Amino acid sequence: MVDFDAIRAQFPILDQQVHGHPLVYLDSAATSQKPQCVIDAESEYYRTINAGVHRGAHELAARATEAFEQARAKVARLVGADWQEGQEEIVVTGGATAGLNLLATAFGNASLGRGGAAAQRFALKPGDEIVVSKAEHHSVLLPFQELAARTGATLKWFDLTPDGRVRAEDAGEVITERTKVVAVCHVANVTGAITDIAPIIRRTHEVGAVFVLDACQSVPHLKIDFHALDVDFAAWSAHKMYGPTGVGFLYGRRELLEALPPASFGGSMVELAWMDQPAQYMAPPERFEAGTQPVAQVVAAGVAADWLRGIGMENVEAHERTIAAELLKLGDIDGFRILGPRENVDRIGTVAFDVDGVHPHDVGQYIDAQGIAIRVGHHCAQPVHRHFGLYASNRASTGVYNTVEDAQALLEAARGVRPFFGL
Ligand code: PMP
Repeated sequence: MVDFDAIRAQFPILDQQVHGHPLVYLDSAATSQKPQCVIDAESEYYRTINAGVHRGAHELAARATEAFEQARAKVARLVGADWQEGQEEIVVTGGATAGLNLLATAFGNASLGRGGAAAQRFALKPGDEIVVSKAEHHSVLLPFQELAARTGATLKWFDLTPDGRVRAEDAGEVITERTKVVAVCHVANVTGAITDIAPIIRRTHEVGAVFVLDACQSVPHLKIDFHALDVDFAAWSAHKMYGPTGVGFLYGRRELLEALPPASFGGSMVELAWMDQPAQYMAPPERFEAGTQPVAQVVAAGVAADWLRGIGMENVEAHERTIAAELLKLGDIDGFRILGPRENVDRIGTVAFDVDGVHPHDVGQYIDAQGIAIRVGHHCAQPVHRHFGLYASNRASTGVYNTVEDAQALLEAARGVRPFFGL
């Protein structure tokens, strides 16, 4: 049995009052809070081993490099990726958005003939297709929409069921012989729905296309094994998995990373550089890590990954499911509508809702006055809001530190919203 009260006690930020109430933090889909061990890891790195990695012959540089590479291995272990030297499948990025842009830019470079014959599997031309879904965060939609515009490819998408699930059963029609890239979310950041990715991945590979997973909202909440899922690439952010801001990770199947041309250029990613000859780039992951990396943050993200594995992702999943069950009762309140599946099945504890007759910002402000933090706005996912006939919504989302009492506090506050506005 995992003691989740003891886990909650590891988050110093939660021990405070907001507007005269004990803080209830239900905004982990935006960013998670950090346990003391992660906070300590970052300052410990600066106190004891800070140095430039991968260069320099001095002892601190060697220790910093070791800590950086160990963090990469820790993150790899959390998601079922390879970490052996020469086989690394985890690339350090600035976050999910940076990782997705890295991929779109690299595919664009391949489309210009960069990266030679091996990279041609990523190349796009007019008439080719890129497939996303209507549930995507703008960080998936926009890089791939831009890639389509740059290459002349056509952007297509999976439609959603009335309750906002990606219609994976349409894979046979949406993904065709012309499809080169399919990019979808593992868990949608508005609806909390887990995408049925297996048939989408099967179809993607059947037509010889590349499958990209937005794993931002799944890595912190679900047990993941990218090898078992047969995912080609996956991007996510450290700050939503109890790690620091400013860093994220891109998983790539080793063989694909080796074939992928670089997306940004500079120091630490090149074997040989000349004035009058093309440069010779390093092998992955360094090929994709131009410039000085956020080493302290990566080291702390590695600590977060180990800490999550220590709790056990099955336990995290089960714990958050009990809170999701409570949050879903929001849908029982008069005038409230849940934007996403009402059943507590194949979903996580991210519950977006609309309140009839009250603007989401007014709802958010009323709830905030009770010391409860939820999200307000379109959550960087406008098409899914349009699907529900809305521009914005409110969203409560769970983390390991939440309790059923947190959800009940939100329910109680939520019941007061419409009466407060005279409805
Ligand atoms: N995808 C999803 C599903 C997300 O929830 C987010 C963060 N809101 C992102 C991508 C982008 O992550 P970041 O802003 O950390 O780059």
